[in-house]
Order: sequence, then structure tokens, then C-alpha cells
Amino acid sequence: MVIPVPDSSISAAIGFAFESGIPYGEAFVKNRYIGRTFIEPTDSLRKRGVSLKFNVLRKTVEGKRVVVVDDSIVRGNTISPLVALLRQAGAREVHVRVASPPVRYPCMMGVDMGRPEDLVANRIPESGIAAWSGADSLAYLTMESMGSAIGDIHKYCAACFDGAYPVAAEEMSDKNRFEF
Ligand code: SF4
Repeated sequence: MVIPVPDSSISAAIGFAFESGIPYGEAFVKNRYIGRTFIEPTDSLRKRGVSLKFNVLRKTVEGKRVVVVDDSIVRGNTISPLVALLRQAGAREVHVRVASPPVRYPCMMGVDMGRPEDLVANRIPESGIAAWSGADSLAYLTMESMGSAIGDIHKYCAACFDGAYPVAAEEMSDKNRFEF
């Protein structure tokens, strides 16, 4: 079964299910009264927030091989608790597919991603990210595949993936400007 991390990954998961022929289903129930975990002030609070924010429908995943689609992995505080929740609910295998390339560069335009060293793609090599997350496998979308999905990728900012910022360093806010 292909399941999304709601809500931002639903369209990507539907697309993955359509192309792969694997049935689509929804297994995470999101508590909408708990805020975005990745803007919580500490990693331990963010991880605890994930288990408060999501419940798994056990009957949907029990005994199944599950492909969970997430839109991106930034700090990496969400995906491993989600994989653990699926295993606790009886999923036989958990495969993660990420609908974007690895996020290696902080956003300088206002999305709070932390510092470069906070980004999991800079801490864990791609070959080790599945084991680190607790999943049976994990794969990212490539820049080329993302480009084929959205058209000319150069028309959009993709700086958190490739480091090509669309504004000059002096125009970036001091809060978000880091040395590389
Ligand atoms: S695509 Fe650009 S604006 Fe959007 S989060 Fe990444 S760096 Fe920030």
C-alpha cells in the first residue's frame, strides 16, 4: 500500500500509486490542533510532537508492505518516528519515498530550516539514510525527475536542494545567512 504523510504529500503519493500500480490508502490520522513539528525549538520536542500529531490506523497497515511518501526530509525529526509508528502498528515492511531531492542548504528566504549542520542530508550519507530512519529502504526524487514533474526547474527557486540562491547574499536576512 502507498500512504502519504498528510497533508502535503497526498498528491505525490497518489502519483506514486498511480504510476506503480500499488494501491493507495490513508493510514495516518493527523491531529490538526498540534502545530508544525519542525518549527518546535528543540529536536526532542519535535520528535515528541510527531507521535502526538499522528495516529496510525492499525487495520490499514497491519501485515502489509507499506510505501510511505513524504514531501521532503529536512532535519529528519519526523520520518524516523513515523516509520516507528508504522512498525508498531504491524506494518511488515516500511519503504520511504521522498518527493524531493535531499535538502542540503538552508532557506535564506524565510523558511526556518536551521543551520546546514542541522539538515540530515548533511549528516547522514544517502547510503545510510534508510538504516538511520529505521526504514527497509529510502529513496529521494532526483533534481532531474523533479524538473520533469514541474517543467523548467530554472524558473523556480530550488536553492535548498542545489545551493543556487535566487538573491544575492547581501539581500538575505542576517538571521538566515550562514557561512558555507
Ligand atoms: S525552494 Fe527556495 S524559497 Fe523554497 S524553501 Fe527552498 S530555498 Fe526556500
